[in-house]
Amino acid sequence: MRITTLGCSGSISGELRTTCYQMDDDILIDAGTGAGDLTLEQSVLIKVVFLTHAHLDHCALLLMLSDAAGSFRVSPLMVYALPQTIATLKMHMFNNCLWPDYTVLPTAENPYIRFCPVQAGETVELGGRRITALPANHAIPCVAYLVDGGTGSLVYSADTTFCADFWQALNHVDNLKYLLIENTFRNNNVDGAARAGHMTANLLVQGLRLLHRQVELFIVHMEAGYEQETMREVLLAAAEFRPQMLQRGHVFEF
Ligand SMILES: [Zn+2]
Ligand SMILES: [Zn+2]
Repeated sequence: MRITTLGCSGSISGELRTTCYQMDDDILIDAGTGAGDLTLEQSVLIKVVFLTHAHLDHCALLLMLSDAAGSFRVSPLMVYALPQTIATLKMHMFNNCLWPDYTVLPTAENPYIRFCPVQAGETVELGGRRITALPANHAIPCVAYLVDGGTGSLVYSADTTFCADFWQALNHVDNLKYLLIENTFRNNNVDGAARAGHMTANLLVQGLRLLHRQVELFIVHMEAGYEQETMREVLLAAAEFRPQMLQRGHVFEF
């Protein structure tokens, strides 16, 4: 299994792209602005998208992805998400106002996209790859995803503040290899982190100390312009977990 980091920043500017990870050639986890770097040929190959939540930095390009290659696909793009996320996107995105309702267009029988609800704890199996939604604690309904390739697993935390259920779920993943976790805010913005459902270094280390497994730790979704300062705080608080800053273009193979 190959996971390519198309975008892992909390916002855009210059070379930064928001969240999007490509699994092999045919699956995306989130569809932030990183999805905009796919060629038309690559977009056509995308058959499935897993969304963590409805915030635009994680799904803005689903709009373009749905029709950019829509006429080249033989079947609808399958989009897995929480029922609340699906309801939000249907109401505010695919509403024939902001964007055409591609859940019934070009035809109701063969639309460009089809939504499939998932819940935390549920596993979707696609060609021997198992993708499981895990709990998260964000300002709006949100899940993390566990991607199990058999010999190893990668967990992408999405947007979350401290979430005891998430860390407990990780302790049940026997082949856990990689953890990609957000650290959006600096420690001086603990109120903002609580309000917006995001992590600071001090909150992150509370969770990491609940983890009974060795894992390669990658920090994602930092505020643009504050990456170095935020990473310094993470390195200070969680040195024993050897955190690394994830860079766009990084490829995980397992
Ligand atoms: Zn969010
Ligand atoms: Zn986000």
